[in-house]
Amino acid sequence: MTQMETVARLSDAISRYDEAFETRCQDASPPAPMTHALNMSLNDLRQWFLERDQPAYRAQQLSRWVFGQRLREWHQMTDFPTRLREEVAEHLSLWTTEIARHQHAADGTEKHLLQLSDGRSVESVLLRDGVRRTICISTQVGCAMGCVFCASGIGGVERNLTTGEIVEQTLRLQHLLPPDERLSHVVVMGMGEPLANLTALLAALAWVSDQHGLGISPRRVTISTVGIPAAIDKLCDLKSRFHLAVSLHAPHDKLRDQLVPINRQIGLDAVMQAAARYFEVSGRRLTFEYVLLAGVNDHDEHARQLARLLRGHTALLNVIPYNPVAGLPYDTPSLEAQRRFCGILTGGGVNVQVRERKGDRIDAACGQLRRQAQAVLPSIAPRPTVSDAPSGTSAS
Ligand code: SF4
Repeated sequence: MTQMETVARLSDAISRYDEAFETRCQDASPPAPMTHALNMSLNDLRQWFLERDQPAYRAQQLSRWVFGQRLREWHQMTDFPTRLREEVAEHLSLWTTEIARHQHAADGTEKHLLQLSDGRSVESVLLRDGVRRTICISTQVGCAMGCVFCASGIGGVERNLTTGEIVEQTLRLQHLLPPDERLSHVVVMGMGEPLANLTALLAALAWVSDQHGLGISPRRVTISTVGIPAAIDKLCDLKSRFHLAVSLHAPHDKLRDQLVPINRQIGLDAVMQAAARYFEVSGRRLTFEYVLLAGVNDHDEHARQLARLLRGHTALLNVIPYNPVAGLPYDTPSLEAQRRFCGILTGGGVNVQVRERKGDRIDAACGQLRRQAQAVLPSIAPRPTVSDAPSGTSAS
């Protein structure tokens, strides 16, 4: 073979090799997307292992690592064969959020601003009170309910959180505790209206209350809502055992329409009736919430109207002195005004509790930290005039 022929053969072989390589590259499918392990239920996980010829109990083993051992990386699961650990790491993700900010208050309150995988962010809080370790978690980015005094509602709702993103908040807060402490209570009272994201919420709370998850009794889990009757009825149908807290913030429709704009589409009567149905079905004592705003909903007449509204309900009323939000025109009532308001309610037979403010020094009012971080400009809602406030008719 001449030198020319050898070179021609070589170059032919090289070009055939290049073509084959290109074809192989085109055929190669992209790596399968990771599935968030916390978006799966325990049964989904069992199925996932069965499909890989693994015993179903691997699902419990995995959840024990995640919730019981506070696992950070899959490779810590030392009772999994190496190959299985690699397979889990290849297909299942555990952390999709990052801690963008972490604040501490002198009273032990800690707050996370979590950055989601799409760059959006939500807040969650750990509260320490005696032996209680309560966490407050978010269910949506932003909120569509539009409560005029709330930082979370400014800018409306951007999206619902996934089940995994809700559960991740609980785990990130659990990791702040020393090994001998455990979370005792969960309140779903952070950003968003929980009942507007009911499917993801219930799947997340299944992990919270399951013995293979955080193992927190449903009696220690509170869902806080402005009151969406259709969703409350759904909870009744599902025989939910969670505690329900209904945020009133006003004793009659005229004022509530201004403070909680979604009320214009619902009405206080429908909210109260749905709450009563939940009480009947669940047997759980209801909690009503009332954020007390100086000069807006804290008049003597409001307290009397509220006492009439709550008459006949087996309920606790949580009065929450407003936690001011920069840029919004609302203030905390004086201690004297708070005492007076609660005194009238107690005199009217209402079981009242004033909720202590926690974490004042760390922008603890829901949504403030996110707003600060995003430098969202305040779009200030006009404050209801005092003449609007006390003169409405009672809903009772
Ligand atoms: S108070 Fe709750 S329901 Fe109202 S806007 Fe804020 S997050 Fe939404």
